[in-house]
Amino acid sequence: MAESENDTSFGRVELGFVEQTEAWLVQSCQFPSKVGGKPAWLSMSDLPNPDGLLCNKCRQPVVFLLQIYAPFNGKPFTFHRSLFVFICKNPQCYEVNDNRCFKVFRSQLARKNDFYPYNPPKSNKSDGRNTDEKEAVQSYNIKLCSVCGCSAPKSCSQCHMARYCGREHQLIHWKAGHKQQCSKKDFSDPSVPENTFLFPEYLIVTELEELTPEKSTSEVNDDTQQYLPTENNSSDDCDCVNEKDLEAFAKHESLDIKVFTKFKERISNEPDQILRYCRGGSPLWVCDKIPSKVEIPNCDCGAERIFEFQIMPQLLNHLNVDHIGASIDWGTLVIYTCKDSCDQGNKYTAEFLWKQDFSSDDV
Ligand SMILES: [Zn+2]
Ligand SMILES: [Zn+2]
Ligand SMILES: [Zn+2]
Ligand SMILES: [Zn+2]
Repeated sequence: MAESENDTSFGRVELGFVEQTEAWLVQSCQFPSKVGGKPAWLSMSDLPNPDGLLCNKCRQPVVFLLQIYAPFNGKPFTFHRSLFVFICKNPQCYEVNDNRCFKVFRSQLARKNDFYPYNPPKSNKSDGRNTDEKEAVQSYNIKLCSVCGCSAPKSCSQCHMARYCGREHQLIHWKAGHKQQCSKKDFSDPSVPENTFLFPEYLIVTELEELTPEKSTSEVNDDTQQYLPTENNSSDDCDCVNEKDLEAFAKHESLDIKVFTKFKERISNEPDQILRYCRGGSPLWVCDKIPSKVEIPNCDCGAERIFEFQIMPQLLNHLNVDHIGASIDWGTLVIYTCKDSCDQGNKYTAEFLWKQDFSSDDV
C-alpha cells in the first residue's frame, strides 16, 4: 500500500491485484504485500501464539491467506506496518456472515527498531537482501513451524530439529517426508517437499482506482448510500465484481439488488481486483447485511475500529479451493483496525474481520 501523507488522503481507493513473484521479493526485509506461502513476519518477536491461530469453530490451525504492508506517516511507531489475515481450510467451517474461522493481526514498528536497518532495503536482487533477512531471523532465534511458518514452540522428539506449532502440523510434516529426514538426520532441506497446506504464493501490486465521470455521477445519485454503516465520505465512499463471476452471483436471487448492483458496477472497471484498500473510508458491500457499530468491537486500547481494507471474492480464483460440494467462500471480507493504530511494541495485535456473503437469506 502506498504511504498516505495524512488523513486527507481518506477517500481514494487503492486496488490490489495478484502477480507471479519470486521468493526474494516476498521476504520480510522487502516489506511485501502478498498472498499465500508462509507469512513474512514484520516483528520478529512476540508472534501470535499457536492457540491464537486456531479456528474458533473446528480448533484446527488456520492457514495464512495474505498480508498487506500499510504504513502511514504521522506516528513514529507506524513507520513499518503490516496486517496479516489467516483463514480456516475446512470448508465446513464456512457459514453465512460468520467470522469465526478468520484471524487478523496487526504488527508495526518504528523506523529505528529491533529487526530492520534504518534505511530501506536495496531493491536489486543481487544486493544481499538475503543476508539481512537471515540475520534478522537468526539473531532473534525465531522458531517457525516447518509447515505453516507460524510460531513453533514444539519440536520433533527424535531429532529436536524440525519445529511445529502443534501436533497437527507435526503429523502433516511426518507424512510429507520428515519420516525419512528424521531417521537419516538429513536436514539439508527442512521444508516440506509438497506443502499442500499453504496457498499458492503471489505478490500483491496496487494501483489507485480510477472512476469514469459517468460512474462518479451515478455514485452521487445512488440511494444505496443509506446502507453504509458509517458517516465517512458519503459522496466518495470506497465502495466497490468479475464478469464471469457475475453469472454465478446472479443466482442468489434474494440478494439486495441495489447494493449488489452498485458492487457490480463499481468493480466492473477492474474486474481482477482482489482487494480494496481505503483506511477510514467505507467498504463496498455485496448485500445489505452489514455490521452495526456495536458489532465492531473496540480495540483493546479502547479506541474504536475503522474500516481499512476488504478482500474480494476474486481472490478465491487464485487459491485452488474449489471442491465439489462445500467450499471456502465469501462475498467480501472486511477488515477493521484500531483508529489510533495503537502502539503495542513488537507484539501482534488482533484486529477484526467481518465476513459478508452474497445473500443474507441463504441461512
Ligand atoms: Zn475451522
Ligand atoms: Zn504449523
Ligand atoms: Zn524429527
Ligand atoms: Zn488500539
